Amino acid sequence: MRLRNVPGARETIIENKFSIQQPEQMKGKWAEVFQNDHPIHIEVGMGKGQFIIEMARRNPEVNYIGIEKYSSVLVRAVEKLEDFEQDNLRLIRMDAENIEEVFDKDEVDRIYLNFSDPWPKDRHAKRRLTSTRFLERYDNILTPEGRVMFKTDNKDLFDFSLEQVEEAGWILENHTYDLHHSEYNEGNVMTEYEEKFSAKGNPICRLVAYRHA
Ligand code: SAM
Repeated sequence: MRLRNVPGARETIIENKFSIQQPEQMKGKWAEVFQNDHPIHIEVGMGKGQFIIEMARRNPEVNYIGIEKYSSVLVRAVEKLEDFEQDNLRLIRMDAENIEEVFDKDEVDRIYLNFSDPWPKDRHAKRRLTSTRFLERYDNILTPEGRVMFKTDNKDLFDFSLEQVEEAGWILENHTYDLHHSEYNEGNVMTEYEEKFSAKGNPICRLVAYRHA
């Protein structure tokens, strides 16, 4: 997803109280940012923010941080926060390749990857957010009990991700090729892409994985 030329997007994000500038300075200090020691759940590639904003609304005892690469997309999430009165959500515009510069070892309890870009060409496989290269990065920021939760309607990307989980030596806690008709669907919060693709009849795949302790 890439919306080009949204005039004033960067300024709108910088001025918003939920957005964090220079997030590298918060590495190891996220509990100070939230002024509590609640668990930290992040969404990498949050897009326009429907999922993470709703998760933050439903779970005030969890701190949420949304990460999005493009200002032109993140600004749409910022616009949704006008009436958001809780203090358990922050947004960062950054490329997740640099995630270890922003979070310390054992600082993150859960990583959500929702409808991540498929990067279908083989030569771009390392850019996929479920590649072993990214799993290594997540390994360096997750708590020992931490989980990665990945949803997609792209079966090829899902099968690739299952392979990468195994190759990285992670443990697959559960997975389904049809989340909405599975035992795991209770409490599921739909993302923008999930609504769009499930309305077209595409089954939604989901996996939950954790690293070796
Ligand atoms: N998660 C949302 C959903 O399910 O509706 C958006 C899905 S959209 C297909 C993928 C999003 O991930 C895009 O907004 C894209 O800009 C973002 N993204 C892709 N690679 C990223 C990266 N390396 N770091 C941060 N965001 C990234």
